Amino acid sequence: MKHYEYFNTLLPHLTAEHEGPVASVITPSAAFGYASAQEAEAIFAGEEPKPVYARMGNPTGTKLEQALAKMEGGAGAVATSSGMGAVAMVLTAFLQSGDRVVCAGGLFGGSYAMMSDTMPRFGIVTEFFDVDDFDTIEASLSSGAKMLFVESVGNPNLRLPDIRRLAILCERYEALFVVDNTLTPLIVQPLKMGADIVVYSTTKIVSGHSAALGGAAVFRGVKEEGEKLAGERFVQLHPFLKKGRAAMVMMAKKRAMRDFGMSANAFGSFLTMLGLETLALRTQRVNSTVQKTAQLLYDEGVKVRHPSLQNHEHNFRYEALFEDGCGPLLTIDFDTKTEAFSFLNALKIPVQTANIGDNRTLALHMASTIYRDFDEESLRLMGITPGLVRFSIGLEAPVALAEDIVAAWKKRR
Ligand SMILES: *Cc1c(COP(=O)(O)O)cnc(C)c1O
Repeated sequence: MKHYEYFNTLLPHLTAEHEGPVASVITPSAAFGYASAQEAEAIFAGEEPKPVYARMGNPTGTKLEQALAKMEGGAGAVATSSGMGAVAMVLTAFLQSGDRVVCAGGLFGGSYAMMSDTMPRFGIVTEFFDVDDFDTIEASLSSGAKMLFVESVGNPNLRLPDIRRLAILCERYEALFVVDNTLTPLIVQPLKMGADIVVYSTTKIVSGHSAALGGAAVFRGVKEEGEKLAGERFVQLHPFLKKGRAAMVMMAKKRAMRDFGMSANAFGSFLTMLGLETLALRTQRVNSTVQKTAQLLYDEGVKVRHPSLQNHEHNFRYEALFEDGCGPLLTIDFDTKTEAFSFLNALKIPVQTANIGDNRTLALHMASTIYRDFDEESLRLMGITPGLVRFSIGLEAPVALAEDIVAAWKKRR
């Protein structure tokens, strides 16, 4: 628990000022006046660290970016309009037509659609493997794939990747390793495990309130020696390398955000920072409730799936790599859609919605909602069965939640 005590001490101060207004100042301006023609030139050259124009970054967002970079141990971050904005920014900044991306594990519906449908329309080839298909992943990376994209915990298939092992493969074959850490902020620190870029939907756990759509990408520092981005395959990025340690921030802004405009807004960044202050406290509480609820449901004979349970295929990895928990999700697999619907409608506490990581417990039937547009093969790959219900556990009392879920389970038809 020392880990969370560190963040409980750090996070509330990360976004506060000790002089003047304590809470973050919201700067809604879209444009910023320059003191002189010379200053305008210096700002555009990146020599003067002042805002250019809100599409390229806003002072409130900058504060959020600094906090997230510090939290992850990154060289810098870029706040975006949404989690999908962050994914789109990373893909479009670092890839081009003809490049190949390997996706491993379960993928959030929006990311799966992006990878399986949208990116191929722009000439980017995408492949999908299970997180444990190390040989196939290695074969793909060794034959030239440029990026490996994984989620720290498969949403909603709850398969757990071995991030360190995958990072070693990416280093060996000079591929960029991107981890979507939306489900496990603080729990997993991908940059410290060898990832190059972390993406977040801050809409979810980081904010926690269902009040602010937002996202971010956090980047590792560029190395002075042995930097894979300095290799031949990343030649388009070379002009940015002279920007120093935080060069990837500039790559993301100039090669994606400037042209696509997936920029964060000041009010959203402010709300996200309010959530960030209590992230460690909420994470501890939710981790503990998820484990307790999973066990209580299992003991009642409910078909619950969670890596903390011994019958989960990645329980060994959970014990070894995720000792304090793996985020708010657990799933229940019903035999039919009808049974899942009758169960959901009998629940009293959870809100039925497509969000996750809220302070309230949320529940949703997967196949009829987020995954409704996908074919059989994709559903199999993503682990979506006809009766699958996903829960995102909130701050409520574990016993009250378990009682509600068991009562609905008994009422199902
Ligand atoms: C929700 C989610 C996203 C997309 O985030 P938005 O903020 O909704 O755009 C990306 N990745 C994961 C794992 C998510 O859960």
